[in-house]
Amino acid sequence: MKRIRVALVDDQALFRAGIRMLVSSQPDLEFAGEAGDGLEGIAMTARTRPDVILMDIRMPVMDGIESTRAILSAAAERSTTPPRIIVLTTFDLDEAAARAIRGGASGFVLKDADPEFLLAAIRTVHAGSAVIAASATRELFEHFGVLAVPEPPEFAELTAREKEIFLLAARGLSNAEIAKAEFLSEATVKTHISRVLGKLGLRDRVQLVVFAYEHRLA
Ligand SMILES: [Mg+2]
Repeated sequence: MKRIRVALVDDQALFRAGIRMLVSSQPDLEFAGEAGDGLEGIAMTARTRPDVILMDIRMPVMDGIESTRAILSAAAERSTTPPRIIVLTTFDLDEAAARAIRGGASGFVLKDADPEFLLAAIRTVHAGSAVIAASATRELFEHFGVLAVPEPPEFAELTAREKEIFLLAARGLSNAEIAKAEFLSEATVKTHISRVLGKLGLRDRVQLVVFAYEHRLA
């Protein structure tokens, strides 16, 4: 089995050491490299070609949002498989994390998450799915959801059922959980989700959450 190569970009040496140990302790993961700021992160990525990068947001020299964009556009220019990027945030209410997702990151995880959650997030994004810290999502909505803003026109094109499923997905529920809540089969939920993504012009569930957040839909 090929191990997942994981790299870390963070300005705190102690945090880097902790993650290095955590990743190295896992038989299916390999620690590929680390960098102390976003600019170093770009060079380190070009050198070590990790599969997954854990990316801090607030760093000197270059922040994690700009570094994420640069790393992904460099991969696109070289036509190489882009690394999956998980943004690490300190705060639940982090608009910067939402911006990083729009810049191409595959998910965000709180820095004080359980190690097991972070490891699961690495494996999940590597497998091609998106990851969002559930508590972060909930907080975003609790904080911003009360503001009234006009409904975007694309949203009006969803059927009542699709809107319900959109809102459940926006709260971070899995297909299985949505299926249970809506008394549907998982396959049907999957079909609804892809129709919703198509109508809204979104790539994946992370973008769905960000869309809901930006339009105050939850
Ligand atoms: Mg930092």
